[in-house]
Amino acid sequence: MTELTHFINGKHVKGTSGRFADVFNPATGEVQAKVPLASQAELDAAVAAAAEAQPAWAATNPQRRARVMMKAVQLINRDMDKLAEALSREHGKTFVDAKGDVQRGLEVIEFCIGAPHLLKGEFTDSAGPGIDMYSMKQPLGVVAGITPFNFPAMIPLWKMGPALSCGNAFILKPSERDPSVPLMLAEIFQEAGLPDGVLQVVNGDKEAVDAILDNETIQAVGFVGSTPIAAYIYERGCANGKRVQCFGGAKNHMIIMPDADLDQAADALVGAGYGAAGERCMAISVAVPVGEETADKLIEKLIPRVEALKVGPYTAGDDVDYGPVVTAAAKANIEALVESGVQQGATLAVDGRGFSLQGYEDGFFVGPHLFDHVTPDMDIYKKEIFGPVLSTVRAGSYEEAIGLALSHEYGNGTAIYTRDGDTARDFANRINIGMVGINVPIPVPLAYHTFGGWKKSGFGDLNQHGTDAFKFYTRTKTVTSRWPSGIKEGGEFNFKAMD
Ligand code: NAD
Repeated sequence: MTELTHFINGKHVKGTSGRFADVFNPATGEVQAKVPLASQAELDAAVAAAAEAQPAWAATNPQRRARVMMKAVQLINRDMDKLAEALSREHGKTFVDAKGDVQRGLEVIEFCIGAPHLLKGEFTDSAGPGIDMYSMKQPLGVVAGITPFNFPAMIPLWKMGPALSCGNAFILKPSERDPSVPLMLAEIFQEAGLPDGVLQVVNGDKEAVDAILDNETIQAVGFVGSTPIAAYIYERGCANGKRVQCFGGAKNHMIIMPDADLDQAADALVGAGYGAAGERCMAISVAVPVGEETADKLIEKLIPRVEALKVGPYTAGDDVDYGPVVTAAAKANIEALVESGVQQGATLAVDGRGFSLQGYEDGFFVGPHLFDHVTPDMDIYKKEIFGPVLSTVRAGSYEEAIGLALSHEYGNGTAIYTRDGDTARDFANRINIGMVGINVPIPVPLAYHTFGGWKKSGFGDLNQHGTDAFKFYTRTKTVTSRWPSGIKEGGEFNFKAMD
């Protein structure tokens, strides 16, 4: 049994709290490691070490800091397969998908190489007689990130890259379900030249999170996870005077108009609904075909595609479409929601219940499910299922379809499939959701744009990565300066004779 560690002051450090959590291999159901759960004292000690290291890092010029990012990009590419393998082993997603997880994080580190440019301030020459005005973007000090299990490489990288390149010290509290990749990333940044103490990985659960929220040195907290925890962290962090941004759960709708290419839409729904076993905050979990004929044709196209999905462990090769879900509890929650859908009158067009995989009977696999005739009052519509379950809500018109997405409490991502530019444009303008796809099923913005949901999917006013991340991890200081006339007006250059 592997005992995992924290990563503090440039070294792996054993946990001292005496508390541990099991880390599973979701494909086999076996416990493969135990991860230490930090106490408040351990968290506070890591923060104190970070606070000591931070001023020298902040004083390192931005280009030199960017070179650490540059080197990290090279090392992450070098270790891509190793990282993806560790990621699949703890998370369960396929090897190809695990590489995508690392890749999407890596792209934000590539973006951070441009930090010197992004950190430039503004300057006004002669704002008044002999007066100049300029602004500086300065790091906050010690900042923290709390991340979810479903992207154990991408989301920690989204947070640590911008935070570090702005000159902060960064405390990462990754998910206790799959902590190995974040620890490996910390080693990589160390090898890339990050000074000791600037990046600390503190493993833990609620106790470590509360210690972060209450620690007076920590200036800002970035969180990604479920909405109830996002709301809790936002409230407690803000109440303690910190800058806080929290990204929560999702229920992403895809609207399929009668003029859409239905084969394209069906393929997109299968990838976006079932990829990573539906454990993506940008997964499409609700299909909204407009008109009965569109719905009938779409369901007809979806059924064989969903039935053909290959579910298996990441070790089974590239033709596996998705792997197990992360824990037995996640599986039980998905199964309970599926039962509620059946009880509440939805039609189970593809029934994945009772799915079992020979040789992996104890793994946390869930078969693919497709629901038709779902209505907005059902639990499977209201709640985030976070599993391989796609719900179809039939809408009579475009207005009814957009109305569903507009009034759902979540607002992370959405998509529309149509050949009509006017409809697509109207949808993009009116929808109250942060990320919109037009004939694109999972509209995850690239590193140089920003990522963030609206409504109950996002708390706080700035998004992740892109220029917003550089605003979040810095504060602006504006200097107004006037220099009295000096040497150029006739300074004394000669020794005066003493009287
Ligand atoms: P989670 O909320 O259970 O955990 C997220 C983090 O919070 C973890 O580090 C965990 O240790 C910590 N945590 C859990 N319970 C806590 C508590 N009671 N008090 C304090 N901290 C606590 O989320 P998860 O299951 O790891 O991730 C899945 C969720 O994340 C889904 O809801 C998904 O939609 C969401 N998500 C959102 C985005 C986004 O950008 N909006 C991205 C990825 C995932």
